[in-house]
Amino acid sequence: MGITFDLLAKAAREEKLAHFLLFHGSGTIEREKAVLELALMLNCLEESDHKSKPCRECMACKKILSGNHPDIYLVRPPKTSIGIEQITQLQEKLYRKTYDGKYRVCLLDQAEKLTLPAANALLKITEEPPANTVIVLSTANAEGIITTLRSRAQEVFFSPPDEGTWAEEIEAFRLSGGDPDLARKIQEAGITPVKNRISLYLEMITQRDFLKMFNLFPMERDESVLFLQVLAVAIKEKILRGEQSPEVLKEIIQTTEMIRRQVNHRLVLEVLALKHLRLGGTDLG
Ligand SMILES: [Zn+2]
Repeated sequence: MGITFDLLAKAAREEKLAHFLLFHGSGTIEREKAVLELALMLNCLEESDHKSKPCRECMACKKILSGNHPDIYLVRPPKTSIGIEQITQLQEKLYRKTYDGKYRVCLLDQAEKLTLPAANALLKITEEPPANTVIVLSTANAEGIITTLRSRAQEVFFSPPDEGTWAEEIEAFRLSGGDPDLARKIQEAGITPVKNRISLYLEMITQRDFLKMFNLFPMERDESVLFLQVLAVAIKEKILRGEQSPEVLKEIIQTTEMIRRQVNHRLVLEVLALKHLRLGGTDLG
C-alpha cells in the first residue's frame, strides 16, 4: 500500500507525483525534513539533469532552505487541534496561482489532530485538486486519520532511525524504545530525572513499598504523560522477557489516555500503581 521515500523522490524528480500524500511513522522532525526535501526537488530550477535535483544552490532552493519560499505552507495545530478555520484559510490560498515556484507544497503537521469538519473540508479540496499543488499530511500514527481521507492519499511510511544513525543522545533514544519524538521529549525533560523516576517507580513495585509513591508523584500533567510513555517502553521490554504481565501495559495505556482527557492525573497514577502492585512486581517471572 505505502511506498518508500526513495520511490516518491523519483516520482517528484520526474514530476509524476500524486497530489495528496500521507507521511507516517518515525518522528515529526524526520517527516518534516522529508517534506522539505520534496519541496526542493519539485521547485529546484536545475535543468540539466533530473538526478542533480535538488541543487540547493539555485534561487528556488535557497528560498526554500531559508524558509522564505511563498509557495511552501506549514499548518500546525495552534492548540490541541487543526480546526475548520485553518483549512478554510488554506483553501483560499490554494486556488490562486503560485507566486514563484513551480509547485506549491503544503504540510499539515500532526494531521491526526484534524477535527472532523476540518478533515471533511480537506477531503473536498482533494476532490478538486488545485493545480501544481502537493498536500502532505504528516502523522506519527496513520490510524488517527479518518478512513475517507486516508484512502485518498498516497501513503509513505518512514521507518524509525537506527540507533547507529541517531545523532542525538543515545540514552534518550534507548529510553524511548526508538521513537524519535519521545526521545526528544526525554532530552528536553532531562535524561537523569526521567530515568530516576522510572527506577523509583519500579523499585516501589518490586519492594511492594507503596509509601515510596509520595516521593514519586508530585508530577505535573505533562510530566505524568512523559513518565507513562517511558514506563510503557520499559514494561514492554519486561513483557518480552516474560518478567511482566501484559495486563500492566494495558493499564498504563489506559491511564495515559485518561490523563490526556484531563482526568485528575495524580489520582489515576495512584490507581495505576495500586493495580500494578496487585498484578505483580516486575521481578516476578
Ligand atoms: Zn535548485
